Amino acid sequence: MTNTASTVWQACLSFIKDNIKPQAYKTWFEPIIPIKLSADALTIQVPSKFFYEWLEEHYIKLLRVALVRELGKDAKLIYDVRMENAYSSKQPHTVKIPSSNRKPMYGQNISVPLELNKRELRNPFIIPGIQKVKIESQLNPNYNFDNFIEGDANRLARSAGIAVANKPGGTSFNPLLIYGGVGLGKTHIAQAIGVEIKNKYADKTVLYISAEKFTQQYIDAVKTNSRNDFIHFYQMIDVLLIDDVQFLSGKTGTQDVFFHIFNHLHQNGKQVVLTSDKAPVDMQDIEQRLLSRFKWGLSAELQTPDFETRISILQNKLYRDGVEMPDEIIEYIAKHIKSNVRELEGVLISMIAQASFNKKEFTLMLTKQIVDKFVKNTNREISIEHIQKTVSKYFEIDLATLQSKTRKRHIVQARQLAMFFAKRMTKASLASIGAQIGKRDHATVLHACKTVNNLTETDKQFRKYVEDITKKLTF
Ligand code: ADP
Ligand code: MG
Repeated sequence: MTNTASTVWQACLSFIKDNIKPQAYKTWFEPIIPIKLSADALTIQVPSKFFYEWLEEHYIKLLRVALVRELGKDAKLIYDVRMENAYSSKQPHTVKIPSSNRKPMYGQNISVPLELNKRELRNPFIIPGIQKVKIESQLNPNYNFDNFIEGDANRLARSAGIAVANKPGGTSFNPLLIYGGVGLGKTHIAQAIGVEIKNKYADKTVLYISAEKFTQQYIDAVKTNSRNDFIHFYQMIDVLLIDDVQFLSGKTGTQDVFFHIFNHLHQNGKQVVLTSDKAPVDMQDIEQRLLSRFKWGLSAELQTPDFETRISILQNKLYRDGVEMPDEIIEYIAKHIKSNVRELEGVLISMIAQASFNKKEFTLMLTKQIVDKFVKNTNREISIEHIQKTVSKYFEIDLATLQSKTRKRHIVQARQLAMFFAKRMTKASLASIGAQIGKRDHATVLHACKTVNNLTETDKQFRKYVEDITKKLTF
């Protein structure tokens, strides 16, 4: 029997299926379509750029083994990224990722990165009137329902989110408003709804946006006389996720335009999801007619998780990071950090960073130090910006130089370190890290992380850099 793309892929799948969890298989492998086989190169179609990134990041080794079994040691994999949300166009939008001419590195030689879709639209204002349209959903697959731990404090919001994701626009939870204090998972749930909908309904147009960015876009639209384009753009979205609507307080112009967009979407059976740090009754300076709309669907509160849930969140995070930690330490953290899940995660990230770079054990002493620091310094979040500033300062270069295109070795190293820490200490996707650190693409970030890992193992001086910066970032 001769091999075809389909038979080769089926054989790979049955191997992969035996090696990963059913849910992961379903999510990341079932949607892949084999399209072409030529000599030892298999082309597979993946639904989005995120998908491709995710595969590269998490399953590349497995894919490699599977493919080499079928096609021999020179096997190559080519991704064909289907554009998300090809809008009103009959032709499929496919983007070939041409073979890399970089030297293959070990464990990497089946991946053929780069040149992702350049036509992708970042600026929504380009879209109106154009037939072939793609909207970048602004979703981060690191936020999903699988890694959102359920507890009494979030059960309603989580279940409503899942219901909405299963039937966007088709439940009575429209709009779904998720509200609660800082760091309790509002953004996580809003994102997870979007991510899940994209998994289930690849052709739905989903957009996640903060109310702040929405406001800024609106202001720009007014300035450039394109208010109507702005409205049209938002009216063609199937699932609109607006984060932190409390930001609209007092901004009557933006509220007004949002009111019209909301009505249009709602009347057309489109889904709207909102988050806010306050319950609708407590929102100030939001117009009554808008508030009453918010109450049409379901308002679900996120409360502070109880002790057991905090323990589960910590354990789950450790499990995902492949780190083991003594129970008494996990309990110590859960006992002392009560009101903010972001801080809970922050303590863990600091602990893991400290312990791994300084080859320290997880001791109660270390835990106490870090927890104290967090309790004093509440609401602290390591941002990519903070990481870049810290790294620049450490190497005594300015931020602009770090982000510049220069190929000078010590600056490249500093930039790679910033990317490495951003990946390690934030939830940002590779693409978003790249965009923020000198407008690079996600493959550059992936490469930076690998380089830093290699150098840390082989180069003593470099290892010292990593340790010093870790200290600066975590203490
Ligand atoms: P908010 O938007 O409410 O300020 P986020 O959604 O940013 O909060 O959540 C803060 C952090 O805590 C995120 O990293 C998120 O993934 C994590 N988080 C919050 N709740 C949970 C949960 N129940 N399970 C797992 N992670 C959670
Ligand atoms: Mg948030």
